[in-house]
Amino acid sequence: MFCVECGAEGPTYDGLCAKCFAKRHPVVEAPATLDVERCTSCGSFRLRSGWSKMDRDLAIARVLREQIPAVAPFERVTFTSVAREEDANNLALTVKALGRYRELESVQDFRTRLRIKPSLCDSCQKQRGRYYQGILQVRGDGRELTPEEIRRVRTFVAARVDRGAADGTFVSRTEEVHGGLDFYVSTNAFGKTLARDVADAFGGTV
Ligand SMILES: [Zn+2]
Ligand SMILES: [Zn+2]
Repeated sequence: MFCVECGAEGPTYDGLCAKCFAKRHPVVEAPATLDVERCTSCGSFRLRSGWSKMDRDLAIARVLREQIPAVAPFERVTFTSVAREEDANNLALTVKALGRYRELESVQDFRTRLRIKPSLCDSCQKQRGRYYQGILQVRGDGRELTPEEIRRVRTFVAARVDRGAADGTFVSRTEEVHGGLDFYVSTNAFGKTLARDVADAFGGTV
């Protein structure tokens, strides 16, 4: 058989030699970035099947397989990759995609970035919901807090918790009680700091 494109003699696929076929048909559409959530508490990755604990290289292989489909006429694609850490949450991936079409195997190389999104898996979320060491009670001085004050205190505390997220401080739940707010905090020390900050910001006493 002769390639209709370049005239080379040998096996052809839809009239094309392997080289011309590869030129015309990419194996995959290489994405610039891929995202995957990872639980900051237990290290699980969020895959299509749900949260699962596995080492990073295995997770990378799964993410590639789940998020990058073969482009027709390729029916199947398998990936091999090398990861280089740019920082804790960004991996530069050098990927080889091996596509199969009939007896033809075609290789496409590309680079992409895997962005790891810090998150909290369902079971860690649940665990935190039950866990607390102390309760910070925010009340009005001899009166009930107004809805506006409650909203502002909630926003303030949420912002403080975001900043402290790395060192294991968190609010496991917030309850609106009659005329005030209760924050269930992960550590007593954090509860004290938070109480001082709230008092400073809203002009109260601890
Ligand atoms: Zn050809
Ligand atoms: Zn977790």
